[in-house]
Amino acid sequence: MPDAFFRLEAVSGRARAGRLTTDHGVALTPLFMAVGTQGTVKGVAPDQLARAGITVVLGNTYHLMLRPGADTVQALGGLHAMTRWNGPMLTDSGGFQVFSLGELNQVTEEGCTFKNHLDGRDELLTPERSMQVQHQLGADVVMQLDDVPALPATRERTADTMRRSLRWLDRCVTALPARSAQGRRQHLFGIVQGGLDMDLRAESARELVARDLPGYAIGGLSVGETKEQMNTVLDVVTPLLPAEKPRYLMGVGFPEDMLAAIGMGIDMFDCVLPTRCARHSLVFTSRGRLRMKNAAHSADSAPLDPDCSCYTCANFSRGYLRHLIMAGEMLGMTLLTIHNLHFYAGLMAQARQAVLEDRYEGFARDMTACVTAKAP
Ligand SMILES: [Zn+2]
Repeated sequence: MPDAFFRLEAVSGRARAGRLTTDHGVALTPLFMAVGTQGTVKGVAPDQLARAGITVVLGNTYHLMLRPGADTVQALGGLHAMTRWNGPMLTDSGGFQVFSLGELNQVTEEGCTFKNHLDGRDELLTPERSMQVQHQLGADVVMQLDDVPALPATRERTADTMRRSLRWLDRCVTALPARSAQGRRQHLFGIVQGGLDMDLRAESARELVARDLPGYAIGGLSVGETKEQMNTVLDVVTPLLPAEKPRYLMGVGFPEDMLAAIGMGIDMFDCVLPTRCARHSLVFTSRGRLRMKNAAHSADSAPLDPDCSCYTCANFSRGYLRHLIMAGEMLGMTLLTIHNLHFYAGLMAQARQAVLEDRYEGFARDMTACVTAKAP
């Protein structure tokens, strides 16, 4: 009898600490998942990721199904074997990139037709194709295809897309084979939609819970709404989700926003921020954010963050890192990415410890002040 996929270990207020057990190992929550769009977290090798404290890597179905293609990934042994990331992985449905990257032609009940952004070919992404591709890629957590309205959307449009997402979820449940193409368990998450309409959010959450899925994601946020609006959605949705299942807030990734969301009962996050910001020389530290192009760092022998034990901070000065960035050296981006990911993973580990010791509220208040401080 395999371990339960998710086990809730402790709560502190509404904040939670838990444990995900997959066929590729365990991940502790609260959890930040690194985004590895094209089958790689840009500029960082798998052993460097692991040493930075990353436990789960996310792959993008849209990118991988177009290049190198799901058949090729499967022929190379699946996403884990191909990338040599041996820990847990999650793949998204591909839908988000169809809506944001591809030239979307139309969405019908069948699926989304789009021109792929590489060669302009016409493509159709259906719930069944998304499941087939994710089955071939072989991630431990797979996401339903959902219909996302263009913003701003009327209530009617938001309601239509939310209910279509539920119908697509049912097709995903039917289409997903019992095991990945590599013979491993895959856990399908549904996605709560409904925009900023709380009645629709509640309807979506109740319908998903009625389907008794392995986990629940909250989508359609981090798309330009205010923090208050996001918090209102979380306030409505998380109490409707079962305590014994994991909750994943998609695409939210400023440290202060994750701290607030953990306080409202969220367990899992993914975001391109720590990696994308690193490539644009923005660093997150326990004392606020640093812009490494700033000339003030040019002769600074201090590490990025005196409280950080990552490979970058243990070895390199701000002055050298700034030099690498200014010279356009690849190593600069790699070292900043390692630091940012280590900082995010460390933030989650500290949040988890605070939950285990039932002091999350005070921890979140103090840490929010630190991460939003104006760095010297
Ligand atoms: Zn560091």
